Amino acid sequence: MRCYNFSAGPAVLPLPVLEEARSELLDYRGSGMSLMEQSHRGKPYMAVHQEAIDNISKLLGLTDSHAVLLLQGGATAQFAMVPMNLRGPDQTADYTNSGSWAKKAIAEAKLTGAVHIAADTAGEKPARMPRTEDLQLSPGAAYLHLTSNETISGVQWKSFPTADAPLVADMSSDILSRPFDVSPFGLIYAGAQKNLGPAGVTIVILRKDMAERAPESVPLFFRYKTHLDANSLYNTAPTFSIYLVSLVTRWLLGQGGVNGIAARNEMKAAKLYDAIDASAFYRGTAAPEDRSLMNVTFRLPSEELEAQFVSEAEKEGLKGLKGHRSVGGMRASIYNAFPVEGVDALVAFMKDFEQRNG
Ligand SMILES: *Cc1c(COP(=O)(O)O)cnc(C)c1O
Repeated sequence: MRCYNFSAGPAVLPLPVLEEARSELLDYRGSGMSLMEQSHRGKPYMAVHQEAIDNISKLLGLTDSHAVLLLQGGATAQFAMVPMNLRGPDQTADYTNSGSWAKKAIAEAKLTGAVHIAADTAGEKPARMPRTEDLQLSPGAAYLHLTSNETISGVQWKSFPTADAPLVADMSSDILSRPFDVSPFGLIYAGAQKNLGPAGVTIVILRKDMAERAPESVPLFFRYKTHLDANSLYNTAPTFSIYLVSLVTRWLLGQGGVNGIAARNEMKAAKLYDAIDASAFYRGTAAPEDRSLMNVTFRLPSEELEAQFVSEAEKEGLKGLKGHRSVGGMRASIYNAFPVEGVDALVAFMKDFEQRNG
């Protein structure tokens, strides 16, 4: 029996996607072998590779100015690749420090050049995102980096800031969950394992002219241009992960694309936040106007009750609700593939738990 999986990542995948992958696992479309066992340059895989790229491009409404790259190393590798490629030797890169993930991006960027912190909300309680008017931008910055959704504290940029420099965003935990205008972005990156598929592939949306910025000292493998020119087949691609991304994005197109899924995401998050706000027992930890639609964070009156909540929920098939070890409390991650029925089940459990322990 499948449980309701609230894990922050790797996270729940759409059931029809898993079923399709299972049905094709041993004999991929009459080829007599699994897709995992085939050349990444063979016809069957090449079609899957292109479908993944085309679906992402369609879902984001990309025009010819931006390309989709399929890389490895997770969002964490992008923390290093972004400054290496996009910041010139005498340039500063602006970063917003909004929490745990932004901090990691900043630490990596500092190793190779100048970083200016344009806004810092990382230590604030309740957790919140910076506002456009909080930003102190440096003139001539290479780019302005932001983390669109802080997966750990559960805050999300509701509208993106404007800047002269191109925006660069870590969208690991909310890519393809809501519509936005791609045009101000020079680069967007996301590990697949939250909203797009399994771990092992990282999606990069690159404004093509950005690929020309890398200094000569950057190794070929770590240049965006290398992967752009090779359509992300410079070396062996993580074929099975990309196959699942092709299925997840096909499923998303069938859900009405980003607009369709966004409406459902808002509805799911509203059910949980309404339950939190209607109770004096549960307490949200993010500023209401910045609340994430993907990661709903909340606390109970004591750590003992929190531990009891997690263990009782687990017995009811509601798994992965324990908050990140750095912040404690509860976190319900409700990405695109998380079913509405699972949210309803959690809301019912919360009411029952409060009645018994409140
Ligand atoms: C999970 C996560 C990461 C780390 O991703 P990896 O693929 O493990 O490198 C980075 N940023 C955000 C916002 C995340 O949610």
